[in-house]
Amino acid sequence: MSGRLEGLEPSKVFHFFEEICSIPHGSYHVDEISRYLEDFALKRNLRVIRDKANNVIIYRDASKGFEDRPVTILQGHMDMVAVNDDPEIDMDVTPLDVCHDGEYIYAKGSSLGGDDGIAVAYMLAILDDERIEAPALEAVFTTNEEVGMDGAIALDASLLKGRRLINLDSEEEGVFTVGCAGGIKMKAGIELEPYGSENLSDKACVRISVNGLLGGHSGEMIIKNRANAIKICGRLLYDICDRFDVELADIKGGTKSNAIADKAEFEILVNKTDIAELEAVIADIEQEIRSEYIKKDDGIRITAAESTLGERCVFSGSSLKKLASFIMAVPDGVQAMCGWTDGLPLTSLNAGIIERKGNTVYTYHELRSQMGSSLQNLKKRVTAIAGAFGAVCENSSEYPEWEYREDSPLRDEMCRVYREMYSAEPKIEVIHAGLECGILAQKIDGFDAVSIGPDILDIHTTKEKLSIKSTERVWKYLLKVLSA
Ligand SMILES: [Zn+2]
Repeated sequence: MSGRLEGLEPSKVFHFFEEICSIPHGSYHVDEISRYLEDFALKRNLRVIRDKANNVIIYRDASKGFEDRPVTILQGHMDMVAVNDDPEIDMDVTPLDVCHDGEYIYAKGSSLGGDDGIAVAYMLAILDDERIEAPALEAVFTTNEEVGMDGAIALDASLLKGRRLINLDSEEEGVFTVGCAGGIKMKAGIELEPYGSENLSDKACVRISVNGLLGGHSGEMIIKNRANAIKICGRLLYDICDRFDVELADIKGGTKSNAIADKAEFEILVNKTDIAELEAVIADIEQEIRSEYIKKDDGIRITAAESTLGERCVFSGSSLKKLASFIMAVPDGVQAMCGWTDGLPLTSLNAGIIERKGNTVYTYHELRSQMGSSLQNLKKRVTAIAGAFGAVCENSSEYPEWEYREDSPLRDEMCRVYREMYSAEPKIEVIHAGLECGILAQKIDGFDAVSIGPDILDIHTTKEKLSIKSTERVWKYLLKVLSA
């Protein structure tokens, strides 16, 4: 223990935060931190359960005078998105190099895991101090939230008595999240028809690249109507197939289904005599698209460059036309807005990845909705459209929404305490992204939850930083809520 955070307040919270930073705990590498949490409880004679998914539940009895209060669940995830500037450094075995500048805590060269390490630190600091007044507590530390919420999905909710839950996985102080979207990941596969290589001597291979898009998280940023590089490829291919005699050599783009694709490229074979005209067509489409996205996505660039086919197989123009039509037709972006909250998408989807494997091109889509029926309907639409172009769909990792509760005693109570402390109203928010609360809401009858947290900037990046002052304010607020 280096004690880099010593002297910062709240000292216990930062003590535990620093301690967990010394244990590598990226998603899928949670054995050690899970064991550490179990040991923490055993050392303090607190009842603890560690399940097969490495989730840990630690129980604390009610303080004197709080025996009649409803059991409260505190919850956060123990895994973090572990990213490092230096690819040589193995985050699975290397502790975080934690520092602070008086205002923010960060980790040198890597993500910090304030998301959601600060929840773990808060919960440990509470469990560690018997003087903190609180109702009976069930502290739930879940695993692998960042990679599909596997821990929450595996959690046996019959181990919990509480119906009220304070989730500590939000990153903006003063914002109470009280609802989230459900989602489905879909994959569509369209088989291409290999084309004989005998008539290719008059052809050249051209790589067309779409770059410079803003991209962004497909939940938070879908409302911005930014461009999607995969959709732009569909548009280009559709026009190109219409005007030229072409075959496809390859196509790829995007990195994650939940990120708006910020770049994509494809390679086609075109008659050598058509190259100049093709370049002109691409320049025209680039101009059109750039104008359509003015002030929304200003960096879009579409370039064409000659490449070499080598020994690669190519695919027929007719099957390429089918692929282009499917990419054009499949819906993308916001499909409907909520009637009950201004500025909140009801239902959306995002094409995040396109790739070719053998003779098949796959597209990966992330569908989201605040309402289960609308999500299911969108799934059917995508399946129907894919079917019309001979594409086959598969679904994976479906997770439920956390529906906004009109009547929420916990929210009312937390708002009251907030008003008393700050003479201000918290911002009540429903988000268009998934949270573990959606999964827990499905499992716990009468689920009443609010998600809060201190200010954390640039999560999931190596610039991630946690505000010290905000951590202290949220800590004091949390203690007030527990003792209210
Ligand atoms: Zn998180």
